[in-house]
Amino acid sequence: MLVNLNEVLKKAQQERYAVGLFNTIDTDMLEAAISAAEEMRSPIIIGTAEVLLPYGELELIAPSVLAAARRASVPVVVHYDHGLTFERCMEALKLGFTSVMFDGSAGDAQQNIRDTREMVRIAHAMGATVEGEIGHVGEAAAEDHAVSDRYTTVAEARRFCEETGVDALAVAIGTAHGAYKLKPCLDLQRLREIRAAVEVPLVLHGGSGLSDADFKNTVRDGIAKINIFTDLCEAGAAAEGASYLELRAARVAAVREAVKAKMRLFGSEGKAGGC
Ligand SMILES: [Zn+2]
Repeated sequence: MLVNLNEVLKKAQQERYAVGLFNTIDTDMLEAAISAAEEMRSPIIIGTAEVLLPYGELELIAPSVLAAARRASVPVVVHYDHGLTFERCMEALKLGFTSVMFDGSAGDAQQNIRDTREMVRIAHAMGATVEGEIGHVGEAAAEDHAVSDRYTTVAEARRFCEETGVDALAVAIGTAHGAYKLKPCLDLQRLREIRAAVEVPLVLHGGSGLSDADFKNTVRDGIAKINIFTDLCEAGAAAEGASYLELRAARVAAVREAVKAKMRLFGSEGKAGGC
């Protein structure tokens, strides 16, 4: 069942669990993610990100992702993660994605607000949802020494939500994208303050490599969507098989187990509802 973010995140926020975004660059990962969600009776968010397009073209991956979502027995959001350009976000919406993240967080904050507001206007007219980011979640490889001056503040989160009308907000509270070299230290106090100040579901990026306790704490303190990609790549890369077909089957099984483990941690197991 193909749905947008509102149809899975509002319930997650109310009932205090998180729905995973598992980016899928090919049909191996797609099959693994959807079959895990169906087995766990969990809602799921799948899609791809702009930086992953060299590994799986949007025009080629979109039809298979959408077909898998429509026929799934659980709610599936097809989300375009970290759209960096207006044109690519539009392309994703035109191809049928039900949700986009517009990420203008690396640039000027005022420009980010203006661009995100425009994206919200267009996406909502198409029945799609928008995730925005204020503060900046960087790359683990480059920013292991946390740049806390780019953490999201309560005031900017409140203002960003009011002025853009986003459906979900990615916050920078100490995580980073990719594999960590040093253990991340999350600012949970900041998360609780942001949660109290805004109404929209909050999103945690850079989830790969966090401890089980980190996930439980962030979900408890108000995170309703968690992005996972690097952990799935590592699970798939560890799979072994004597032939191409055996390797493919082993990779799908390994990624499926990794997705299921995250769903258990996030508390989304059994939350698919009656669809
Ligand atoms: Zn991200």
